[in-house]
Amino acid sequence: ELLKAEAVRREMFNQIQELRGNVRVFCRVRPPSPRETSEASASICLETLPDAATVHLRLGPEKSSSYAFNRVFSQESTQEDVFGEVSGLVQSALDGYNVCLFSYGQTGSGKTHTMLGGSDATSRGIIPRAVEKVVEASKINEVKGWSYTLKASYVEIYNETIRDLLSTVGHSDTTHKIIHENGSTTISGVTTAIVESVEQANVLVRKAAGARKVEATQMNAHSSRSHAVFILHVSGEHASSGTRMEGVLNLVDLAGSERVSRSGASGERLKEACSINKSLSSLGDVFAALASKAKHVPYRNSKLTYLLAPCLGGDGKTLMFVNVSPEEDSSEETSCSLRFAEKVNACELGRSSQRKMTTHK
Ligand code: ADP
Ligand code: MG
Repeated sequence: ELLKAEAVRREMFNQIQELRGNVRVFCRVRPPSPRETSEASASICLETLPDAATVHLRLGPEKSSSYAFNRVFSQESTQEDVFGEVSGLVQSALDGYNVCLFSYGQTGSGKTHTMLGGSDATSRGIIPRAVEKVVEASKINEVKGWSYTLKASYVEIYNETIRDLLSTVGHSDTTHKIIHENGSTTISGVTTAIVESVEQANVLVRKAAGARKVEATQMNAHSSRSHAVFILHVSGEHASSGTRMEGVLNLVDLAGSERVSRSGASGERLKEACSINKSLSSLGDVFAALASKAKHVPYRNSKLTYLLAPCLGGDGKTLMFVNVSPEEDSSEETSCSLRFAEKVNACELGRSSQRKMTTHK
């Protein structure tokens, strides 16, 4: 009975997703940090509406804007709430879909918290929960005659170079190439770990997270200057019919979207910041091309978009989180992030933006 209900629910989810188009955008507002709460001057410029779909940004005494997304998570929402809304999408990798989940936003807005989270059961984020869900769901399907192989890779894209976060030999000079062949995507020379249990997956994820390149900037001591992509290949085979299924789940913690000037970048840092901006704008260009149904989609303009091409186009499924900070200090960056996300959101059904600009006196 449970298995049946699960299958029906998944099928319904897939149908809904089909109707909605392949790109969705969720907004998540993080709570103010203790510093922001204690500072007398700290003031909150974001408000989430009870419809759980609108966020209201105040940009000055006379200017504010509303942004509508498929879902808006207020600062009260838990990791469990968030995962509850993406669990269906995650499981569609078992049905053979190419799935991609991004977190986009300025440094300190909660991207890593959303994707990776803390190490305890309540604070862990989407990556550990997703692996757990896929492992569980694959075990359920085994009863129906399916057998699955789950393979994980974890890479970082830094200055247009791919680094293997699961490599046991440390940072080597190996050049990793993205290869699209026979309908599947691989990265040459990158470690793939077979995942058989949740515990094993957790160890993997934590180790890789530690290997991630972090560099201090004026904005945030743990600012991540790179994209981290967790890749889970799901291949299934049905014993009696011989049917094969290949799905991929990509969970992407994007580099900070802040502009160069604000983080005081110079020299080597400037080069990093420019390249980050380049690949994020390449992502925007790909969404724009898809939305306008352009003949040419510029996937090849960055490593990130080239790697994720099968998810972004065709019958792939994409969900982007736009992570935002509620405090006034960040309102300019928040505005940039929300506008970028709104453009991505407009890709679904190819309809135009829903944003309403209001000026009141
Ligand atoms: P980013 O990866 O975008 O730079 P982080 O995920 O590191 O940002 O978040 C910055 C800080 O805010 C971290 O200390 C993180 O734990 C905290 N934080 C972010 N989002 C939340 C949230 N929803 N609830 C509680 N703390 C959060
Ligand atoms: Mg981060």
